[in-house]
Amino acid sequence: MSYTPGFSRYENMRYNRCGKSGLLLPAISLGLWHNFGDDVPHQTKVDICTTAFDLGITHFDLANNYGPPPGSAELAFGRILKNEFSGLRDELIISSKAGYLMWPGPYGEWGSRKYVIASCDQTLRRLGVDYVDIFYSHRFDPNTPLEETMLALDQLVRSGKALYVGISSYNRQRTKEAYTILKSLGTPFIIHQPSYSMLNRWVESDGLLETLDELGLGSIVFSPLAQGMLTDKYLKDIPAGSRATKNRSLSSRFLSEENLLRIRSLHEIAARRGQTLAQMAIAWVLRKPEVTSALIGASNPQQVVDCVGALDKVDFSPEELTEIDRYAVD
Ligand code: NDP
Repeated sequence: MSYTPGFSRYENMRYNRCGKSGLLLPAISLGLWHNFGDDVPHQTKVDICTTAFDLGITHFDLANNYGPPPGSAELAFGRILKNEFSGLRDELIISSKAGYLMWPGPYGEWGSRKYVIASCDQTLRRLGVDYVDIFYSHRFDPNTPLEETMLALDQLVRSGKALYVGISSYNRQRTKEAYTILKSLGTPFIIHQPSYSMLNRWVESDGLLETLDELGLGSIVFSPLAQGMLTDKYLKDIPAGSRATKNRSLSSRFLSEENLLRIRSLHEIAARRGQTLAQMAIAWVLRKPEVTSALIGASNPQQVVDCVGALDKVDFSPEELTEIDRYAVD
């Protein structure tokens, strides 16, 4: 099916500078962790991606293991790059990662040079591209010297397979160590990808955001909707087809009565602001200047449209923030 990108696609999106780098990222980016595996019709994936791009979302985030099965999300996005997004490569920021289990045996996960470089090569083949824009170490490996993992990232840049590198879910201390190594190598390390939402505030208690600011790094925060909990979806019950019914990553135990009470209170605050809860949840993470982009997921195009509507109202009064703090706890 042919696709012509919307002419006004750059008119309403905000683009934020990623730390002190030259790269601008959309305030909202799309992740392909869920809903891009072989269990979802390809046309749904196409509709989600083209809707996002038409709204100015230039950044699509992947990882080696996204699926199911692992690798299938990269294959599906590779197909979209070849068809709908053909000729648009220079308008896109594509990221991928290595860190979690990808293939059997001792070389298929974590942070060794052997794994990271082989995994990136596989990613490029699945996507059908010569390079990714950002390549991440997906998780800190306690058993591999950090220098080795960072040197592998550096080599990916030097061999033209990645333009920039990042790290994901590293705490403040590990982030500083990674920065020191990459700085000494001259590697374009520009971004951190941590989780952050009104129900998950570890980046605040860890001091990570302040550290990123001090180091001049940007951040793209994943699961700002707490995998769908911070939306209107679960206010009454657990609807059929929702992530909580089909995926182990969102266990129904997260939807405890205590959490639901908080979610309902947050929903009321959002309604008073004239927003959906999803929109307020995204605006809330973007209130921090250290947050470059909110990294959402979507199971249909309408969700992407709703989420981008967050940008219509991103300011909070001090009273609203205080009220939100009463319910926004881990
Ligand atoms: P979100 O918190 O945005 O959750 C997405 C889910 O929320 C959707 O699948 C959908 O659930 C629901 N949803 C989204 N928009 C709406 C809406 N407007 N109204 C109602 N429901 C909505 O993010 P994800 O958890 O999906 O993570 C986003 C991305 O972050 C991933 O794709 C990945 O790229 C990255 N990530 C990175 C990790 C890392 O370790 N670095 C770990 C996890 C994620 P439903 O499917 O039920 O409809």
